[in-house]
Amino acid sequence: MVSTVRTKARPTIHEFDLIRALHRRHGRHTPSVIQGIGDDAAVITSRAGQWTVLTTDLLTEGVHFDLRTATLADIGFRAATANLSDIAAMGGTPQYLLISLAIPRTGTRQHVLQLYQGMMAACRPHQVGLIGGDTSASRGGWFLSVTLIGMVPPRKALFRSGARIGDLLYVTGTIGDSLAGLRLLNEPPPNAKRQPGSATFSARHRRYLIGRHLRPAARIAEGQWLSTHRFATSAIDISDGLSGDLRHICEESHVGADLDLGTLPLSPACRAYAASRKLDPVDLALTGGEDYELLFTVSPRQRPQLERTAIERGFSLTCIGKIHPLRFGIQAVSPHGRRHRLANTSYKHFT
Ligand code: ADP
Ligand code: MG
Repeated sequence: MVSTVRTKARPTIHEFDLIRALHRRHGRHTPSVIQGIGDDAAVITSRAGQWTVLTTDLLTEGVHFDLRTATLADIGFRAATANLSDIAAMGGTPQYLLISLAIPRTGTRQHVLQLYQGMMAACRPHQVGLIGGDTSASRGGWFLSVTLIGMVPPRKALFRSGARIGDLLYVTGTIGDSLAGLRLLNEPPPNAKRQPGSATFSARHRRYLIGRHLRPAARIAEGQWLSTHRFATSAIDISDGLSGDLRHICEESHVGADLDLGTLPLSPACRAYAASRKLDPVDLALTGGEDYELLFTVSPRQRPQLERTAIERGFSLTCIGKIHPLRFGIQAVSPHGRRHRLANTSYKHFT
């Protein structure tokens, strides 16, 4: 047991003891890790000829997460998923994790261990090893920076820039769930006074949506499958919202797109939530970030093989639109057949 010295004001975290504890709990040694936690830098071997994929994310308390509605384990899980999802969107295999952390005055050793427990729970299914990081004190809230390193076979990486006119637009899983879950977390508790007219819905739906927000999964297997079979011409993960992330593909590929809103994959729970709050579930799907589903484009020639092998693998995919010339812009057709320009209603950090 590593000792924690308590001062009158707050517990003091012993940085070196903490790092030793993290190393003991999470530092895995695979043959490819020559040096993990414990030296000035980590050293890994890379497989000859493979491309390296690198991504990093900075999460700030109050901007990206709220400790009133999520535990540190949930925050760790989501932070790891956000990075795993970036690697998934490139068609890559995640391998190594580096974590930089600024701990506020109120933060304890137990908090940090919970944070890592959540991060490693998201990473474990993908055999991602923790190989290093940095630790500091914060005069404000928590800061968490996650860096993930992975690999992809040469020339198989999926970029945002590869969409071609005529390609079909697909999305994995269901979208809008995470935003519905976030809204549920921010609502007054079920037994508190409700706004007039807001109906309740099943506890099962509630649990599902909150789970999709707090413990989202990254579509690693789907991304690898799209890249190895060269099914996808472009890909992105839905982290800011469909309307904004589709725009990224269109801008990088210099194309337009037509989205069929009637085909958006909505979960029964998301539909039930929207109905109970008199919202349009399509708005949740267009606006909601953090579903970490993949949005990708496929040549129409590949459609039969894509859909057949998706069923064999148990992957859920939905065709939601088509790529058009740039001058078409980004349009959407409502379930009632009304056509309009798609507004970017995605999450914005600086507003
Ligand atoms: P340096 O002064 O060279 O930055 P540190 O004492 O910060 O060294 O780090 C020592 C070792 O512990 C390094 O291997 C580093 O990667 C690792 N490390 C430090 N902080 C963390 C952390 N928050 N999570 C994981 N590994 C960490
Ligand atoms: Mg350091």
